[in-house]
Amino acid sequence: MNISCANCSALHWAGELNKKVGNRQLFSMCCGYGKIKLNALLPPPEPLNHLLTAIDKQSKEFRRNIRNYNNALAMTSIGASGNIAAHTTNGIFTYKLHGQLYHRIGSLLPEPNRTPAFAQIYIYDTDHEVDNRLHACQADVDKKTLEQLQIHYFLFMSFLAPLLPDFNFIPTTR
Ligand SMILES: [Zn+2]
Repeated sequence: MNISCANCSALHWAGELNKKVGNRQLFSMCCGYGKIKLNALLPPPEPLNHLLTAIDKQSKEFRRNIRNYNNALAMTSIGASGNIAAHTTNGIFTYKLHGQLYHRIGSLLPEPNRTPAFAQIYIYDTDHEVDNRLHACQADVDKKTLEQLQIHYFLFMSFLAPLLPDFNFIPTTR
């Protein structure tokens, strides 16, 4: 990917070139020959921005285990039926599903003698929320980083909320 779209600066492979007008290399798959213009993204709120961009030890650990942090803060788990295959060895993680994908939300309270998980963590025994998350995710995450993310979780949601109507494909009456 070393060729830049003359309109939006997206990087492309040489084989993706659609037109060349003089020195201008034009592509359709990124911006439709410049017909689609998107506003620049705002930087994410702190401390997320720091964790995503800094080179300190904590930030590197966060990026290395970012999927584990995402799972630790998730409100649901993914369920699927049909043929499922996950390839995690070489290259990009690939998850292939031929069937139905759904979210498992479970009950609002954990079963007796079970620790809370997913959405239950947000409402049950909130004095021990971080410890409950660490126990539930059983993955390699740093407690201090998880505490920071949890404290700012609702700030992140307020950052995302204005974007959600753009991704809501359910018809609404406004
Ligand atoms: Zn473009």
